[in-house]
Amino acid sequence: MLYNSTQNAAEVVSAAQAIAQGISKDGGLFVPQEFPHYDEAAFKALLKEDYKGRAKKVFSDFLSDFTREEIDDCVEKAYTAEKFGGENPAPIAYTALNGKSLNILELWHGPTCAFKDMALQILPHLLTKSLKKTNDGKDAVILVATSGDTGKAALEGFKDVEHTKILVFYPVNGVSPMQKHQMNTQEGSNVRVCAIKGNFDDAQTGVKKIFTTPAVAEKLAENNMLFSSANSINWGRLLPQIVYYISAYCDLVNDGKIAFGEEINVVVPTGNFGNILASYYASLMGLPIKKFICASNSNNVLTDFINTGVYDKNRHFFTTISPSMDILVSSNLERLLYKLSGNSDATTKEWMTALKTEGKYEVSDDVKAFMQEKFFGGFCDDGATQSTIRALFKESHYLADTHTAVAVNVYEQYVAKTGDVTPAIIASTASPYKFSHSVLEAVAPSEALPENEFDMVDMLHELTDMPVPAPLAGLKDKAARFSDVTAADEMQDYVLKALSIE
Ligand SMILES: *Cc1c(COP(=O)(O)O)cnc(C)c1O
Repeated sequence: MLYNSTQNAAEVVSAAQAIAQGISKDGGLFVPQEFPHYDEAAFKALLKEDYKGRAKKVFSDFLSDFTREEIDDCVEKAYTAEKFGGENPAPIAYTALNGKSLNILELWHGPTCAFKDMALQILPHLLTKSLKKTNDGKDAVILVATSGDTGKAALEGFKDVEHTKILVFYPVNGVSPMQKHQMNTQEGSNVRVCAIKGNFDDAQTGVKKIFTTPAVAEKLAENNMLFSSANSINWGRLLPQIVYYISAYCDLVNDGKIAFGEEINVVVPTGNFGNILASYYASLMGLPIKKFICASNSNNVLTDFINTGVYDKNRHFFTTISPSMDILVSSNLERLLYKLSGNSDATTKEWMTALKTEGKYEVSDDVKAFMQEKFFGGFCDDGATQSTIRALFKESHYLADTHTAVAVNVYEQYVAKTGDVTPAIIASTASPYKFSHSVLEAVAPSEALPENEFDMVDMLHELTDMPVPAPLAGLKDKAARFSDVTAADEMQDYVLKALSIE
């Protein structure tokens, strides 16, 4: 299977090249030229497999330049019961709200308690094998700018992975105390964490600049290293996300919740559009998904886009209690637009150029019509997010984090508006303990809250009796290893020094 750029169909690469390179030279994203199609027999065979078996099947159909042994090795190392707290890394919780059943796909049982582990636990293995195939054994240097969850998940994924080094930059005042402590206590001999005096955009701009400075690349090459990226537009981050939708469908059938072949809806709390796009890709492979319900917080650029066909990022940026969805440019939407425009690289390029220059574009009537047939866009604000957490806990004793609660709220809106009660999978993207403060405010609105993040975790545990995930519980007594802070315009020097090649 080959891949091409969304902005230049003539740019054709192998899977290993797509993963090693991350983004195409023309600025486009790599997409598979076709999707494997699973018939009834193929799905029936997957019903009998466990998560790892399902993952191996999907990976082998997309990564045709990997051997079966290589794929098995990646999957076995990534999805261990030890790292994901059980044999199924993505279990479904069956609960209810307003008397209607909810199927919540919990994607946060990995080492950092957010769904990014599902991809970032396997990406380092895919990447090192890809680099071996494409770049005669250079060491990969991964630079990450993070607003919280990605940085920790990438550190945990790349820790002690041979032939890699990882450096994470975060805005000094732009991450939660828990996220900061998670990163600064990171173990591993190949990791480094540094705060930036500035906001997330400054960190992101700094990383991009280092990536594209030829003198830096030359210096790395002289020392047998090269830059690589772990961000969410890398095909190696998207592919692992297709697996859990297919696996969840199999689990619903095996658990007697739906009949084999029955249609489902999916509901996804969306930021960069990677997670929901993966469910769309699963449907292109034959998974019977009727509606893709795209849930946003007050940064509702995608809701407006689905409803009007106009994408316009020129708007107020809200800082919300679901910070991983505080995004105005959803990078992975480009891949959907490419597909919906009939694989037109010219059209995709036109829209993405308009986005860059004017912050805005409008899609054709055809694309708009298709979007509205398959997608539903909705949003809710912080108050509604917390009411949803409270209602779900009160009725069913199920504790949702703020991102998951946005999805549940928008799903309720969808059902009220359409009457469509097709069984749905709701993606749950973080442990409630990762956002203890906002979750506590929701379930105990009248109580005084402690200052310290870990005291909040304890209080939430006492109030709800929900188990605290071991990786978060264990953080309390861990000493910080990293405390560096640097100016945004000194990031390049910092990187060269950290690599001992200044
Ligand atoms: C990253 C993230 C999201 C958004 O996912 P996208 O794939 O970027 O749409 C939602 N919730 C949490 C907790 C996240 O970390």
